[in-house]
Amino acid sequence: MREFTIKYGVRNDGKLVSVENSSKKEKYRCIQCNEILTVRAGEVYRKHFSHLSNSNCTAESIEHKTAKRLIVQVLDESSKNKIILNTRCPICKREKDISIDSSKIRYAHEEYTIGKFKCDVVGGYKGLDVLAIEILKTHAVDIGKATGLTKQIDWIELKAEDVLENPYMWKSQQQGWKTNEFQCDECEKRSMERSKHEIEVRRVCNRWDIPPKDYENYYHVHIDNCRRCGEQVPWFSYLGKEDRYRYDSPPPDPKPWTYAFRPSIEKKGKPYWHTHCPNCEFS
Ligand SMILES: [Zn+2]
Ligand SMILES: [Zn+2]
Ligand SMILES: [Zn+2]
Repeated sequence: MREFTIKYGVRNDGKLVSVENSSKKEKYRCIQCNEILTVRAGEVYRKHFSHLSNSNCTAESIEHKTAKRLIVQVLDESSKNKIILNTRCPICKREKDISIDSSKIRYAHEEYTIGKFKCDVVGGYKGLDVLAIEILKTHAVDIGKATGLTKQIDWIELKAEDVLENPYMWKSQQQGWKTNEFQCDECEKRSMERSKHEIEVRRVCNRWDIPPKDYENYYHVHIDNCRRCGEQVPWFSYLGKEDRYRYDSPPPDPKPWTYAFRPSIEKKGKPYWHTHCPNCEFS
């Protein structure tokens, strides 16, 4: 059978210990078959555990099991070590490291069911399941499970090899998260500014009796003080044209009542479609 190396062994107290941290005074067992492991260091492989005799264990099953147990172990001792989640901003796809607030996870279960989905590890706090961790060895989380899980719990998928390499550095393969904390600082700032702008637009348009359905699909809205009366009013431009403020033909309905076919007071010219101040009709 194919030879393979094992990175972690189970100590007598049940803890997984990496071969680098193993002690000669202790015995370590295989997580899969419970056989005693020996430490080997060869010229080809770095220091590793291996079975004494032939076993039926496969590298895949040992790595998958070890990764799951390591995650549980890391969450159980969460107060001591920081967990870093390496992910990407969902908007601009830039890489981002987030430190996981592991104080919010006090227990972790292996092979735990959320709804109709069996998850590799589920961490929780005060009886509430808060995070599911899926370990990728051969099969990635499929789209059905991904969407189903996202409705019920935050979840993340990690590669078994990555967990074995460093169980405190979580490299996200895919994830479902309800909060937007994965956004990078720039995207977060931008989306905050956007929602601030939307609130401002709604407030000012409300004041001048312009309902959202009249502008939200067709217009860019700019809030500014009228140069004549000084009131804070909305100025609209129709999306999708070069000269967005002035036309011969009307933009599609519904449109704000301040967007009208009328002469420009400012320029005393012929009439055209444009927006005007709802208070003093200045345009
Ligand atoms: Zn084994
Ligand atoms: Zn971003
Ligand atoms: Zn005005």
